[in-house]
Amino acid sequence: MMALAKLHPRAGLWQTTAPVPEIGADDVLIRVNKTGICGTDMHIWHWDDWAAATVPVPLITGHEFAGEIVEIGRNVEGLTLGQRCSGEGHLIGKTSRQSRAGKFHLDPGTRGIGVNEQGAFAEYLRLPAFNVVPLPDSIDDDIGAILDPLGNAVHTALSFDLLGEDVLITGAGPIGIMAAAVARHAGARHVVITDVNPDRLALAAQVTDVTPVDVRSEDLRDVIALLRMKQGFDVGLEMSGNAAAFDQMVEAMTMGGRIAMLGIPPGHSAVDWSRIVFKALTIKGVYGREIFETWYKMIAMLENGLDVSRVITHRFAARDFAAGFAAMADGSAGKVVLDWRG
Ligand code: NAD
Ligand code: ZN
Repeated sequence: MMALAKLHPRAGLWQTTAPVPEIGADDVLIRVNKTGICGTDMHIWHWDDWAAATVPVPLITGHEFAGEIVEIGRNVEGLTLGQRCSGEGHLIGKTSRQSRAGKFHLDPGTRGIGVNEQGAFAEYLRLPAFNVVPLPDSIDDDIGAILDPLGNAVHTALSFDLLGEDVLITGAGPIGIMAAAVARHAGARHVVITDVNPDRLALAAQVTDVTPVDVRSEDLRDVIALLRMKQGFDVGLEMSGNAAAFDQMVEAMTMGGRIAMLGIPPGHSAVDWSRIVFKALTIKGVYGREIFETWYKMIAMLENGLDVSRVITHRFAARDFAAGFAAMADGSAGKVVLDWRG
């Protein structure tokens, strides 16, 4: 089968031919139709320090996918050949205290497809049946291929009650933009999104009803006054991984505000803890998606009017993957989807 793999420990990905994976008794084989390119895939492409320390070579990369089941292991029940699906790319253990408590997303032994194990940038993917998420007909393969990052957005956004709340999102990357759409869908009052990239802010406004703020030229205090908030934002969703953005968020929160942090700041960043204490803020770190509650919620929302389709700005055939990665590197793209059929 055709696959994209990290074949050498340096920048780039290479198109290669690999054997179709053999499945075990508890697995399924998925024919991949579409895949999304993630920021994680960019780190792997660029072979930064994190990638070099984490990713084995050779490895088929990619973890955002939609496809259909073409082979079923002998122990698997409840799945059928031809079933359209996406799936959770975090492979969890079942013996940790967290897993045994049903908190699968907190299993400390989690391994990722396309990061630690063979991934989805391929014509076929082996996946434990446990990880399969069947797709209803109303969710097409393009959306199916971005459910993984939509899940990050949903998990983060639904960390706190949003109904009637004023929500600040820092970082209008694909996940921040999808989180804005989710916050709207969940009944937030005002949703404000910040970035330093005008293309990303323009895309955010195309995807959902949001107030875009370019923090290079605009002041969040003016936005708070303009939108007639009394003190500041009730809920913050940090989705930039930028320390300055987090600082601005803390400044713009109301007393007792709640912040969910998905963005990953580089290394040790300075934080003014006294402001967090005196504002009595709650801060929650968010990792991945809740397995499988986030999947349930996002599919329910998609079936009930949540529309994130415009966040997909580029589509390429898988063999043109280099153009897809170039679009990602350009910084103005939303989600980039690769087509593996034909
Ligand atoms: P992205 O890099 O595409 O988007 C980040 C955005 O933040 C960019 O548009 C950038 O211009 C913007 N930004 C930079 N400086 C800013 C500032 N000072 N103020 C406001 N915005 C600023 O990333 P993404 O794919 O949308 O992911 C969002 C974040 O979530 C990343 O940090 C990513 O590493 C992280 N992430 C975490 C998890 C997890 O499990 N915790 C999972 C996926 C992604
Ligand atoms: Zn991803």
